[in-house]
Amino acid sequence: MTPKPIHRKLQEGVPKHRILTDEDECRLYDSDGLTLHRGETPGVLLLENEAEVVHSVRVLAAAGIPFVARGAGTGLSGGAVPMEGAWVFDVHRMRQIIEVDPLQRTAVIEPGVINLDLDKAASAHGLRFAPDPSSQRACTVGGNIAENSGGPHCFLHGMTTRHIQAIRTVLTDGTVVDLERDGGGIDWRGAFIGSEGTFAITTRATVRLVPRPPSVRTFLVSYSSLVASCEAVAAIIAAGLRPAALEILDKMTISAVEASVFRAGYPVDAEAVLLIELEGLPDEVEEAAVAVREAAHLDETIGFEEALDEPSRERLWRGRKGAFGAMGRIATDLYVLDAVVPRTRMAQAISSIQQIGRQHNVVLSNVFHAGDGNLHPNISFDSNDAQQRQQVLAAGDEILKLCVSLGGTLSGEHGIGMEKRDHMPLIFSPEQLETQMLLRDAVDPTGLANPGKILPTGRGCTEAGFRGAAHLERTEQILGPADEIEQ
Ligand SMILES: Cc1cc2nc3c(=O)[nH]c(=O)nc-3n(C[C@H](O)[C@H](O)[C@H](O)COP(=O)(O)OP(=O)(O)OC[C@H]3O[C@@H](n4cnc5c(N)ncnc54)[C@H](O)[C@@H]3O)c2cc1C
Repeated sequence: MTPKPIHRKLQEGVPKHRILTDEDECRLYDSDGLTLHRGETPGVLLLENEAEVVHSVRVLAAAGIPFVARGAGTGLSGGAVPMEGAWVFDVHRMRQIIEVDPLQRTAVIEPGVINLDLDKAASAHGLRFAPDPSSQRACTVGGNIAENSGGPHCFLHGMTTRHIQAIRTVLTDGTVVDLERDGGGIDWRGAFIGSEGTFAITTRATVRLVPRPPSVRTFLVSYSSLVASCEAVAAIIAAGLRPAALEILDKMTISAVEASVFRAGYPVDAEAVLLIELEGLPDEVEEAAVAVREAAHLDETIGFEEALDEPSRERLWRGRKGAFGAMGRIATDLYVLDAVVPRTRMAQAISSIQQIGRQHNVVLSNVFHAGDGNLHPNISFDSNDAQQRQQVLAAGDEILKLCVSLGGTLSGEHGIGMEKRDHMPLIFSPEQLETQMLLRDAVDPTGLANPGKILPTGRGCTEAGFRGAAHLERTEQILGPADEIEQ
């Protein structure tokens, strides 16, 4: 078969065997960790270096064809799902750790480096990469940067953005720019982090590493009600304490974990467990441990365990980190919601969420970063069942609205993607949305980088009705009329 002109041009910079256009192969890239929504792509590029990214961007942009970067595809808001005929730039093969500098406490990496691999490389120098999403065995640092990801220890150490010193990125005209944090001038690095691939493709990053703590203590406290565990978290924070992590798992999650390979010895009779980790200098940790025990009302709890050695600590964390995977025992699909409420409203939010679950007749469980008020109500379902899908979407919608009404927001760490794009007006005024669109337009006037995400944009924007016509007009000024663009 004669290759299409676009394929021929791509082959000038990317070997043919790394350009996938077979329908079945492409279908594997139609979704990410959010199984509720699928897209469609005409082609996938398995890219191995920056020169290939630049070449591919130039070829596709010249033809007015959109593209979306993909790391490991573990995203939970549909960020890597190809929309509007976007080609997929799979960058997971760009996984070189170029340098670890223990004196500067930095590492220079390619975007496809797996989060845990970076942490292991840092560990050889007594350092670590602090953002630790539960998906850290699989997700890429490029994906973490695009989503401004979090993790249990981000409660103390801050989200990914705090740990990225500089990024190198390929803009939609093929220009390569280095954006630095402390270089003076406008902090463009900050604007790119969390932009979910809608600005450009990251090809390199300089990350900050932090020392591994000299002392760590980990506790598992069991409660007779989920609300009581939330109240304990509020009390710990109100007491002025700052643990490294405060994670809650509810009864259904505990049962799923204990029935799975992630079994951690959690008490199956508890309604909730709270995993508390303290870190720092030995004296500080000792003092904090006493204060946390008082604040968490341990005398009123139904169980308490302290990890006395590293294997016990790893066991306690194995359950938490494996919780989403363990849910596979309940149903084939899991919709992981991600919303934030003020910590003081967490108990109220949890009670109302349980009620919403019952009203919509969905199977709901909770595992979440309680310290940040970052809730993850999880709905187990079968995506092949249309009625269940409707129930899940309706319950999810109501839960998001509830969290916003309690003074919270739409996402703590999973991003907006395509999942919550239409919920953006719940928290942003038209002027605020317009300002975000102005920034997006300024960085990518073509609208070709990951269209259809976060804000209505790109060639589908006229249907979305948000500043669509103006944007399309501008795109055509740059690229020519859509029907003249060679595909
Ligand atoms: C079991 C499980 C547990 C999870 N736990 C957490 C958690 O604790 N905390 C958390 O924050 N998230 C969590 N997630 C969500 C997900 O792992 C994170 O969002 C992660 O950062 C995505 O990385 P990825 O490599 O899979 O990115 P992908 O899913 O491939 O992409 C995510 C987004 O990043 C963009 N992107 C990827 N690479 C680049 C690049 N080089 N340049 C520009 N844009 C790029 C994509 O276009 C897309 O918009 C979890 C997911 C799962 C499945």
